[in-house]
Amino acid sequence: MVAQRLDGKACALEVENGLHARIEQCKLRGVMPHLAVVIVGDDPASHVYVGSKVRACERLGIQSTHIELPSNASEDEVRSAIESLNSQEGLHGILVQSPLPPHMDEESLTDLIHPSKDVDGFHPQNLGRLVQGRMDGMLPCTPSGVMRMLEWAGVETSGKTAVILGRSRIVGMPQALLLGVKGVDATVTVAHSRTRNTTELCASADIVIAAVGRPEMVREDWIKPGAVVVDVGINRVDDSSRERGWRLAGDVHPDVANVASWLSPVPGGVGPMTIAMLMENTVRATELSISDTLDS
Ligand code: NDP
Repeated sequence: MVAQRLDGKACALEVENGLHARIEQCKLRGVMPHLAVVIVGDDPASHVYVGSKVRACERLGIQSTHIELPSNASEDEVRSAIESLNSQEGLHGILVQSPLPPHMDEESLTDLIHPSKDVDGFHPQNLGRLVQGRMDGMLPCTPSGVMRMLEWAGVETSGKTAVILGRSRIVGMPQALLLGVKGVDATVTVAHSRTRNTTELCASADIVIAAVGRPEMVREDWIKPGAVVVDVGINRVDDSSRERGWRLAGDVHPDVANVASWLSPVPGGVGPMTIAMLMENTVRATELSISDTLDS
């Protein structure tokens, strides 16, 4: 079997195409969707991610504000930047690019973002709604992007077994909740660094989602023939055959394509979906702000 490609680029394009009319409707009401991205420090990968987000805004006609602070900025400076963005009318989404420098408490800073502008979906109020099985908050972009890809590929989830590798606040844990929610109805197991029988768990799963940060950890013999495999991982690995000396690798070995029915590529899989869902959350935050204004 050669796995079909869970093509994040194609799926993201469909998501973006669906946003044009909604953005037009906002503009007809005199409101331009507006996203602010805060980046602290000079981590090259973070700057690449922020650049992709700003370019997606440009493609769609979403206004973007890019706030850059030096790596030696204080937590107070980041706090006041967020508070000022919270109070800005006509600004609908705020994103603080992860990781923040080690001297900052990332969680408490992102908690400051007003839940209605929390387009990353990491605020406890938005994650709490998800725990309650409510889909009406801002959903975290990467796991909701994975869900959209599965839907796009027509993958059946009801009654299927899913193993999520990783339990982070931004990917693994919300992914488990989204797969187990009523209506999606997978039976979910979450594995982490202390799990003892990870390979056996994977080998019996209908769906495997890898969000670990370990290059090519998931091997061909871990996967049940015909399983669906989604690779969230983005890892830089040395590669002297490339001019730049490195390449991107996922958490899943490419040979998994020999046994899986679907496999998402890296790059071109979950990455573009994360950005598309961020754009969708920004448009949704804008629409909600318009309906709040009409209600008041
Ligand atoms: P974290 O480092 O926050 O979490 C990694 C998780 O993997 C932890 O829960 C950890 O367990 C678990 N883990 C570590 N080793 C193992 C192991 N051997 N077996 C099973 N689980 C293990 O990473 P993130 O969740 O933020 O990101 C994961 C990957 O996804 C990274 O490569 C990241 O770059 C990528 N990513 C990609 C995005 C995209 O848009 N495509 C967006 C966000 C992330 P424990 O909790 O016990 O430490």
